[in-house]
Amino acid sequence: MNTEQLKTYIRNVPDFPIKGIQFKDVTTLFKDAGILCELADMLYAAYRDKGITKVVGIESRGFIMGPLLAARLGAGFVPVRKPGRLPAAVFEETYQKEYGADSIQVHRDAIEAGETVLLHDDLLATGGTMSAAVSLIRKFNPAKIYVNFLIELEDLKGREAFSPDIRIDSIIKYPV
Ligand code: AMP
Repeated sequence: MNTEQLKTYIRNVPDFPIKGIQFKDVTTLFKDAGILCELADMLYAAYRDKGITKVVGIESRGFIMGPLLAARLGAGFVPVRKPGRLPAAVFEETYQKEYGADSIQVHRDAIEAGETVLLHDDLLATGGTMSAAVSLIRKFNPAKIYVNFLIELEDLKGREAFSPDIRIDSIIKYPV
C-alpha cells in the first residue's frame, strides 16, 4: 500500500482539541490489523540495518508503534513521559509551547552511553516536543540518534527545529 492509500485510514477531526486544529487521529490506522502489520513492516524495513539498541516513545501516541518496532528490531523500549509519571530518578527537559512551558522526563538509567537510539512519535507538527526529547536523550551521550514519525505536517516546517546531524523520517506527509 502506498502512503496516499494509507492516508485514507487516518481520520481527520476538525477543531479538536481546540478550534482551528485539524487533528490527525491514528486510532483508525491502528484498528485495522492489516495496516498495523504493514506499518510495523515499513518501520522495520527503514531501521533494521541501523544498529538501533533502544527505541524511545513519546507519551502517549509514541507508546503504540514504539514497543512494536522495538520488539521487531531486537531493541529495548524507553518511555519519555510527562512530569510525575515515572517513579524513579529522572532527567527532565523543559520547552516552550504556544501558551507557556511544558516538560518531559526519562528515567536516568534508561539508556547507556554509546547506544544507538531511535525516537518515535505519531506526528511532527512544530517539532517542539520531539526536539525537546532529542535534547533529553543527548544527556545519555548516545552514539547516534534517529527520529521517526508516522505523520509529518510539512507546512509547519517542524524539521527546521532539529540540527542537521539527526536523520528525520516520516511515512505519511500532509501539506498542513
Ligand atoms: P509539536 O511539538 O508541535 O511537533 O506537536 C507534536 C505533538 O502534538 C505530537 O505528540 C502529536 O501527537 C501532537 N499533535 C500536534 N498536532 C497534531 C495534529 N494536528 N493531530 C494530531 N496530533 C497532533
